[in-house]
Amino acid sequence: MAFESLSDKLQNIFKNLRSKGRLTEADVKASLKEVKMALLEADVSFKVVKQFMKAVQERAVGQDVLNGLNPGQMVIKIVNEEMVNLMGAETTEIALQPASEITVLMMMGLQGAGKTTTTAKIAGKLKSKGRKPLLVACDIYRPAAIQQLQINGDKQGVEVFSMGDKNKPVNIAKAAIEHASKNGHNVVILDTAGRLHVDEDMMNELIEIKENVTVNQSLLVVDAMTGQDAVNVATMFDEKIGIDGVILTKLDGDTRGGAALSIRAVTGKPILYIGMGEKLSDLEQFYPDRMASRILG
Ligand code: GDP
Repeated sequence: MAFESLSDKLQNIFKNLRSKGRLTEADVKASLKEVKMALLEADVSFKVVKQFMKAVQERAVGQDVLNGLNPGQMVIKIVNEEMVNLMGAETTEIALQPASEITVLMMMGLQGAGKTTTTAKIAGKLKSKGRKPLLVACDIYRPAAIQQLQINGDKQGVEVFSMGDKNKPVNIAKAAIEHASKNGHNVVILDTAGRLHVDEDMMNELIEIKENVTVNQSLLVVDAMTGQDAVNVATMFDEKIGIDGVILTKLDGDTRGGAALSIRAVTGKPILYIGMGEKLSDLEQFYPDRMASRILG
């Protein structure tokens, strides 16, 4: 299960805090030091941990807290609130154009992150909201990717637009938008190619799409299991392409928590959805407060 080790550690630290009636400044500082270690071990980025601990410390080591009725409980509450803030405080939705217009979503991510699966999951979500999505196979390098999108699109009852692997992705995108406008689709979801590493060719292809097509939202899919690598990938995509939001996959797995806690703070971009399994229904809206509760146990 996700965050198990981080949750266990935090719960132990908090249990100790709660068990003490009165707290001294030294008690609180010692506990916060343990929180810091637990976050670092969970692969939260060092800069984020520093920033987080500063915010918590400023609020938790004052006389207000120490002389209060239940200082241990107060410290825990502060950690919880700052954790929610770290992840963006509010829930962010994918920004869609009015239903009378076409919204173009460009899905991006490294191979294996879960991009194609997530693309179909999102199509299903939008369909259930009354939109008429069109899935577009822009990954021309992996024949299996086109097939996989087709299978998932069929499962979701969503049309898939494909031109095989002989056309440039930018031209497939253009043709798809034309097809969408002729056939009453109001969301076009481009499934772009994933590569093993962030490379120049991949970035150029995405830039070319963005320069020639009105992309309303560029969404990055990253694998939570990869921890800080996921954060680095997000930073790189944001610098080179510009991203509007992140979808964090595989949170059902044994992930340590680093990516979930760092991405917003490092990139300034919100987590929109979380992937919770391989099934096409396993996609959840991201709620920072619920995620903090999950981590804090
Ligand atoms: P792509 O290469 O980025 O398009 O990745 P795929 O969509 O093909 O997904 C790669 C693997 O990850 C597949 O086996 C998916 O079933 C799996 N996967 C995707 N999202 C999730 C998730 O949220 N949880 C789990 N457990 N597996 C996922």
